[in-house]
Amino acid sequence: MTDNTIKYQLDEEHIPKAWYNIQADMPTPTPPVLHPGTKQPIGPDDLSPLFPMSLIMQEVSTEREIEIPQPVREIYRMWRPTPLIRARALEKALGTPAKIFYKNEGVSPAGSHKPNTAIPQAFYNKEAGVKRLTTETGAGQWGASLALAGAMFGLDVTVYQVRVSFDQKPYRRALMETYGARCLPSPSDTTAFGRHVLATRPDHPGSLGIAISEAVEIAVQDPETKYALGSVLNHVMLHQTVIGQEAMEQLVMADAWPDVVIGCAGGGSNFAGISFPFIGKGLRGEAKKPRIIAVEPAACPTLTRGTYAYDFGDTGHLTPLVKMYTLGSNFTPPGFHSGGLRYHGMSALVSHLKELGEIEAVAYQQRACFDAAVTFARAEGIVPAPESTHAIKAAIEEALRCKREGKAETILFNLSGHGHFDMGAYIDYFSGRLVDASYDEGELAAALADLPAVG
Ligand SMILES: *Cc1c(COP(=O)(O)O)cnc(C)c1O
Repeated sequence: MTDNTIKYQLDEEHIPKAWYNIQADMPTPTPPVLHPGTKQPIGPDDLSPLFPMSLIMQEVSTEREIEIPQPVREIYRMWRPTPLIRARALEKALGTPAKIFYKNEGVSPAGSHKPNTAIPQAFYNKEAGVKRLTTETGAGQWGASLALAGAMFGLDVTVYQVRVSFDQKPYRRALMETYGARCLPSPSDTTAFGRHVLATRPDHPGSLGIAISEAVEIAVQDPETKYALGSVLNHVMLHQTVIGQEAMEQLVMADAWPDVVIGCAGGGSNFAGISFPFIGKGLRGEAKKPRIIAVEPAACPTLTRGTYAYDFGDTGHLTPLVKMYTLGSNFTPPGFHSGGLRYHGMSALVSHLKELGEIEAVAYQQRACFDAAVTFARAEGIVPAPESTHAIKAAIEEALRCKREGKAETILFNLSGHGHFDMGAYIDYFSGRLVDASYDEGELAAALADLPAVG
């Protein structure tokens, strides 16, 4: 390492051997998941129509370390460890005394952090004898990642893609098909719930909540078909912790420890991935806990404007009830460009940490985020995914605060993906067509008024 190192690279042997489970270090346990009918805590068997038992056990585990199976580590080697980059050019462009580091998860074959969980999910399903996986996707990042994982393990994959993204982003659909998956626009006429939504509104733009209902409906009808979720669930947060664990080791190489850790948050998984290992060190008293910031779109502000309450994960009300920050399961966010951040709910673990005051949350409008993305691209050379622009915006704000305060803090953020399939959003930005979408306050109030009553 020299004084002007840019890339902190680890050898393949440094891929973590275990995922880090923050449930072992939570100051108080997360509230139980409830059955949607009885409103009583559910047991592992209630989830078995949807997931293999190995993933269900990870969902409820309080063991601190969960071993990463060797076949999963073998596939992780294709792109892990991902580089940690010191954003020296961005620091210079901003004139900040802060040190900015980012973890580049855009180097995976699908272009985002999502294969970190798609690969183990496909592995555990294959091991359990499952033949087919159904799932939902917004912008197509998750669908493409599960399609990749399906190709690696020989599983059929059917993806319900939110209609607006299906129409706006044909290239990710082509990517899913290249990996051998079937991609359908949601709402679709292949499920009872999809037909119900189309009957009430034939031009419905779709939402992640609706697409989840469709994928779940198909999975519960066939014992050889299971469902896979790309975010929100505890086991997804768990799998993503390879990001933060590697970053910690790479920061040691740089002789640094973060004052601030930042991630964008849709369902919370890439944010959890970069931040949970640092939060855990802090909770165990082994290191100074950094400030931890989740960044969300102002048009779908779950952590900053939502309510911490029991809610359904989907619009069709097929899923269990989870205590989380939510905008209400009937809330349809406006059609803005960060499809991966258009979800009404939030990971229970991330929500619980927010409630405990362990993390902060901020929301930004999309134009300001694209301004930040262009500044970043012109300095660092990487064109970020629209979702990742939110983390960049927050990192730049923190770096400018350091400049005003004359502080040389260390800022770490997660670059969750590249934007090569999202150039339509950049075309809109440069032509002035990218406007700040706002949600309807009346619709939000109505969706929150509709939260299920839990005693
Ligand atoms: C899906 C996605 C997100 C949002 O999902 P999280 O579970 O909150 O991480 C963020 N960035 C990219 C690039 C994505 O594909």
